[in-house]
Amino acid sequence: MSSKTLPFDREFIEKLTEQYPTPFYIYDEKTLRRNARLFTESFAWNTGFKEFFAVKANPNPALLQILKSEFLGGDCSSLPELLLCERVGISGEEIMFTSNNTPAAEFVKAKELGAIINLDDLTHLEFLEHCAGLPDLISFRWNPGALRDVESVIGNPVEAKYGLTTEQIFEGFALAKRKGVKRFGLHTMVASNMLQEEFFGYTAKTIFELALEIERRNAIRIEFVNLGGGFGVAYRPEQTPLNMKNVAEKIHEEYDKLIVPGLAPMKIFTESGRLVAAESGTLITRVIHEKRTYKHYIGVDACMANLMRPGMYGAYHHITVLGKPENSGFVTETVDVVGSLCENCDKFAVDRMLPKIEIGDLLAIHDAGAHGYAMGFQYNGKLRCAELLLQEDGAVRMIRRAETLDDYFATLH
Ligand SMILES: *Cc1c(COP(=O)(O)O)cnc(C)c1O
Repeated sequence: MSSKTLPFDREFIEKLTEQYPTPFYIYDEKTLRRNARLFTESFAWNTGFKEFFAVKANPNPALLQILKSEFLGGDCSSLPELLLCERVGISGEEIMFTSNNTPAAEFVKAKELGAIINLDDLTHLEFLEHCAGLPDLISFRWNPGALRDVESVIGNPVEAKYGLTTEQIFEGFALAKRKGVKRFGLHTMVASNMLQEEFFGYTAKTIFELALEIERRNAIRIEFVNLGGGFGVAYRPEQTPLNMKNVAEKIHEEYDKLIVPGLAPMKIFTESGRLVAAESGTLITRVIHEKRTYKHYIGVDACMANLMRPGMYGAYHHITVLGKPENSGFVTETVDVVGSLCENCDKFAVDRMLPKIEIGDLLAIHDAGAHGYAMGFQYNGKLRCAELLLQEDGAVRMIRRAETLDDYFATLH
């Protein structure tokens, strides 16, 4: 049985629970910084490279501040996400505004902040012009449609609501140019949680070819290509983590072949949320019940409202029973780890082999730092939990308090 490591042990967490009741998230600053640097270091060959952290993956300003200090920008798609970036001092072209079906007020704020606006449709050019005026720099999101060589994992791009078709891309840049736009960028995102290195080389190749074709047809220079997010996380201990150095090298090869002869220098952008933040976050929860019916259930004090990926996608999140490490001789049992929602999908693990658990044990749910707390909700009257930061100096700081009943009732008359 393979395992995953944690930056703390049972005693450390047990002590924390005296001050912060479970459940809570705890983020490890060291891990967050390490994964942010994976991007900046792997793409050091590309002058102007920037990773725009997808704020939706984890919108906690304390984490955004850390990422800003690692030279990451922010990828936003809503007004609150723009405001979060503004508050932590991520500004101007350090913000990529990749939205879709965008309300006017959000374009207005993005324009005011000087963010790079990445349009999701041809009609959005005039929509933006009317509500905020056109900036000097415009980017379009490309939807490649039917992929020739590989299956996309976001689903079939033809079924995806995002982006412009290839023909519309040429039309869009022609129109933007006529309207006086001076600088141009190109974006695409066709992967989700992808662990195959070759895929990113393939994506780079197709979008670089498109950039060349745009230059030929539209007589404009594409100044950056944004490859989107979708960089995968090895959620299962037996999976091989994505090697970002190799990924960047595959993109580098295509860049040398296609861009260097005519379009260089061209900036490469990424907008990963998952690979930057997932590993740094752990959801800590305590076992409050054990139930044996047709199956053996372990009931914990967290639920799907705290982390919905397992319930919603059937996603695997590794679980460590604190103080009972794997492969250390503890008797194991096959259990379902469940929350308290009145929904049968509220399970963190199904048929999972774990060291024998007792009521009161603390469970650590791994790799929950991206699309974890961020996807939380209050269904069934479940309140969102606190978020803690384990700093590089070893101190723990609360970076978001738990919701209270007053919060729950605050919007009611
Ligand atoms: C969600 C999203 C991302 C981040 O995706 P990850 O899976 O976290 O890498 C990046 N860009 C856009 C436009 C997105 O919608």
